[in-house]
Amino acid sequence: MQLRIEGAHEEGGVRDWSIATTKFSGESGSVKQLHAVRVGPPPKFELIPGSDFTMEADLVLIAMGFLGPVRNGMIEQLGIALDQRSNVATDHNYMSSVPGIFAAGDMRRGQSLVVWAIAEGRKAATAVDSYLRTAAVRSAPLISTAQQIAS
Ligand SMILES: Cc1cc2nc3c(=O)[nH]c(=O)nc-3n(C[C@H](O)[C@H](O)[C@H](O)COP(=O)(O)OP(=O)(O)OC[C@H]3O[C@@H](n4cnc5c(N)ncnc54)[C@H](O)[C@@H]3O)c2cc1C
Repeated sequence: MQLRIEGAHEEGGVRDWSIATTKFSGESGSVKQLHAVRVGPPPKFELIPGSDFTMEADLVLIAMGFLGPVRNGMIEQLGIALDQRSNVATDHNYMSSVPGIFAAGDMRRGQSLVVWAIAEGRKAATAVDSYLRTAAVRSAPLISTAQQIAS
């Protein structure tokens, strides 16, 4: 939507877009070439027939961006629901689909800024405090809450 040219870009290099990498090739464990094909506009990114090309390469840096929080581990084990962008879905009190489990910052809103992480962290802390003061939580036996988290 916006093509910015920073000082680093002016130092050299070629930027190219709408390319899908199909494979890497190389020798003795070192990459030598990137093989790619050009693709059409979003959202379909359809492969353009006959547009295959190769690019010489001795180093490949993969910049995938933020792909959401790591799923295997805590999120899967607790069965926490994700939103359409693979972030942890919460209600307006920052509580996830699992009662007593809260999320804030990048995990909730996607890759963002420190100021958002701080602001959301504070609001989530207030929401956690309110939750812990509710009668239902206060009267719940400690052991059953611990067992629920452990299981
Ligand atoms: C390269 C880069 C540059 C950036 N530059 C800027 C910038 O210039 N300005 C700006 O405002 N923002 C910048 N950001 C974004 C900013 O860093 C994030 O938005 C912010 O750090 C999010 O804070 P957070 O607390 O939500 O998550 P995080 O800072 O990611 O903290 C999450 C913490 O949880 C821990 N954790 C993860 N899983 C578990 C688990 N299972 N158990 C216990 N702990 C766990 C992690 O180790 C981590 O310490 C940048 C981000 C990146 C990656």
